[in-house]
Amino acid sequence: MYNVEEIRKDFPILGREVYGRPLVYLDNGATTQKPRCVVEAMTDEYYNVNANVHRGVHFLSQQATELHEAARETVRRFLNARSTAEIIFTRGTTESINLVASCFGEACMREGDEVIVSQMEHHANIVSWQLVQARRGIRLRVIPMNDRGELLLDEYERLFNDRTRIVAVTHVSNVLGTVNPVRRMIETAHAYGVPVLVDGAQAVPHMPVDVQALGADFYAFSGHKVYGPTGVGVLYGKEEWLDRLPPYMGGGEMIDHVSFERTTFAPLPLKFEAGTPDYVATTGLARALDYVSRLGMDQIQAHEQQLTRYALERLRQIPGMRILGSAAEHDAVVSFLVGDIHHLDLGTLLDRQGIAVRTGHHCAEPLMRRLGVEGTVRASFGLYNTQAEVDALVEGIERAAAMF
Ligand code: PLP
Repeated sequence: MYNVEEIRKDFPILGREVYGRPLVYLDNGATTQKPRCVVEAMTDEYYNVNANVHRGVHFLSQQATELHEAARETVRRFLNARSTAEIIFTRGTTESINLVASCFGEACMREGDEVIVSQMEHHANIVSWQLVQARRGIRLRVIPMNDRGELLLDEYERLFNDRTRIVAVTHVSNVLGTVNPVRRMIETAHAYGVPVLVDGAQAVPHMPVDVQALGADFYAFSGHKVYGPTGVGVLYGKEEWLDRLPPYMGGGEMIDHVSFERTTFAPLPLKFEAGTPDYVATTGLARALDYVSRLGMDQIQAHEQQLTRYALERLRQIPGMRILGSAAEHDAVVSFLVGDIHHLDLGTLLDRQGIAVRTGHHCAEPLMRRLGVEGTVRASFGLYNTQAEVDALVEGIERAAAMF
């Protein structure tokens, strides 16, 4: 039984008020709130275990290393990766994507080579490739979408040619909520011998993800969007690909031997983890993944899907409501505009009623241009949101709209 009222008790912040109103937190696409078990595990590690990992012979260092490596195993299990060698800890999705773009660009791309991205990418999966473009003269090719916010798969297939080196695509759009058919898209890419990087920032918190079943060559996500701490994320990469790529940064921990003449690198995954990792955050991330696994990703998905359907139904009844994105496969994100009310005004008026939503271009300016808007208001749901909160959102919008 999925008991949302019981679940909410695990998140102290949900009990607070803003402007004298109960907080209605609907900005989960930006970041999620943290359950007590995550914060307590991190506090406990700082109070009782803290020591640098992989370096010391002493007791605390070994214990901290065990926690850090146990967290890697938790992530491996969560994504169903083959081996912990395939789990790289990063600072988040952005760093994971930059790592792939930079290292893959260096090892596998020359002037005139092409990367395929989609119309609905977050800036993290556009600008990282533009940096490679500036350094190596590669080209970005863009998969177009229809007005419902679904990628056009025929057009996608037509983009492949003998200069295509990699596909980099988001699993779920952070603006439209579209769930892209990444498994099918990966099959297509593999038929052309091209690897695929999937941006899973908005997928991992909302649905079960199995990287082997998807066939992804690289898969990125952020800890803070899946009820874990900030400052930690993951890059999954197939071992055969990670082995082929050069290191991302140089420093401690990522080496085997160093001399002024020649340095050899540590085996995976440490080759990509220069410097002291945020080993307390990796423990926090592991507790967060344990937490959502205990609730069940299927159960979380069912709860959020029901909430999203309810929200869409109710929002559509508001006069002047324009919902952006109506893909058949839709996740827990709803972007909208009401009449000619500016998104920032609407967001501000909702905020004054205690309702936290996101406004603006959502780090997806090319998508905004395709939609013909400057920005939207975005409500994004998490595992602890309730139908009553959707009602509060609808009433909040109606109240705000009445002021115009
Ligand atoms: N990709 C998508 C689809 C996102 O929604 C986000 C964050 O909003 C990112 C990448 C970047 O994530 P982070 O800022 O945690 O690195």
